[in-house]
Amino acid sequence: MNSEQLFERSIRVAPGGVHSPVRAFKSVGGTPIFFKSAQGAYLTSVEDQKYIDFCMSFGPHILGHRHPEVQEVVHQAIDQAWSLGACEPYSLALAEWMTARLPFVEKLRFVCSGTEAVMSAIRVARGAVNRPYILKFEGCYHGHVDSLLVKAGSGLAGQSASSSAGVPEIVQNLTLLADLDNDEQLEKIFASRGQEIAAVILEPLPANYGLLPQRQEYIHKVVDLARKHGALVIFDEVISGFRVGMGGMAAQLGIKPDLVTYGKIIGGGFPVGAYAGRADLMDQVAPLGPVYQAGTLSASPVGMQAGLKTLQVAEKENVHVVLEKRTKKFADGLNQLFKEKDYPLHVVSEASLFWLQVKTPAAVRHPAQISTKQSEVFGKIFHNALQQGVYLPPSGYEVGFVSLAHTDEILETAKQSIGTAIQNALA
Ligand SMILES: *Cc1c(COP(=O)(O)O)cnc(C)c1O
Repeated sequence: MNSEQLFERSIRVAPGGVHSPVRAFKSVGGTPIFFKSAQGAYLTSVEDQKYIDFCMSFGPHILGHRHPEVQEVVHQAIDQAWSLGACEPYSLALAEWMTARLPFVEKLRFVCSGTEAVMSAIRVARGAVNRPYILKFEGCYHGHVDSLLVKAGSGLAGQSASSSAGVPEIVQNLTLLADLDNDEQLEKIFASRGQEIAAVILEPLPANYGLLPQRQEYIHKVVDLARKHGALVIFDEVISGFRVGMGGMAAQLGIKPDLVTYGKIIGGGFPVGAYAGRADLMDQVAPLGPVYQAGTLSASPVGMQAGLKTLQVAEKENVHVVLEKRTKKFADGLNQLFKEKDYPLHVVSEASLFWLQVKTPAAVRHPAQISTKQSEVFGKIFHNALQQGVYLPPSGYEVGFVSLAHTDEILETAKQSIGTAIQNALA
């Protein structure tokens, strides 16, 4: 069966034929490709076509697909236990490894996804501070937590509206919304509502609405204002954690968030998330404290061992330094090409993340600055890139991921292929 036939069957049994919306190719058009296997930097479709993968399952595979050392550990883990629902040494090993390296993580709790981590961190914050409101930023994504599925409202500064059906106004009203990169508005929100805010949550490197690197001073301002008003600071490092460096954005910025959320890389490709932070806050969680949170499959042994091995290999291989260099060379190469050919495109990159954007007059720091042509232009490039054997993330608002398996040779090939794809797309 080919991808089209499989998709036709899928839409009969799953909404939109998928189990997570971006997979449906809705924003780039066309029928999604069905992949049967993955190795290193490559995906193989059910049609036996091989693609260089820059989606990388949206972030977990910093070492590439099925790194041999991780795969060996996974095989061993499967021979020992799948799920125990009891105490085991595997989560302990990963927790000790993480707390030893992250000075702002005194204690942590494992869950099964980034969404679950965020949802729990917010509950802890509200429980500890005993205030109802959360402040989030437009353009930051924190999973599909009800209270964080909000967009800008039409009323007062900070007021939000739901961005999903099924979120009652009463829930959405407890989330205040700020623009990124807007000092004045931030001060206004804190001046009027600061005493009601339990926590401020942000992606310190927003990477779910394109890649929107922030001014360091702005992030510091968010943190300072939160502290001044007795609100906690939650860094959502589900993407940036262990990707921009072992200490994530918190270490890069020299900020000690009160709570941090992780996912993606820490499970090595298995469903693992974690919320973490100050011991006095984490001790609010059951069975020690009054904030309830539990999970049948939490700290699943296979995920724990795959995650630990992934992080150990990443550290041993000095992966962040290696990948930042490779990614920069790749991005610079593409930008050079765009300049020569006068293409209205630009690659933004940070660490091993990159984003192909329709060029704008100035650096993009918040969603409203993104070109209105972004989706349309990216959709054309995406399909032409497929023709050239390159699988970019299937949306113009998703970032690309470079892994340890993306060698300089593979990246050079990808650069050439993307160049050809763009030439064809813009022709
Ligand atoms: C991916 C992501 C999430 C959600 O994680 P899931 O595992 O998809 O639930 C939350 N926050 C950020 C910053 C993310 O990138």
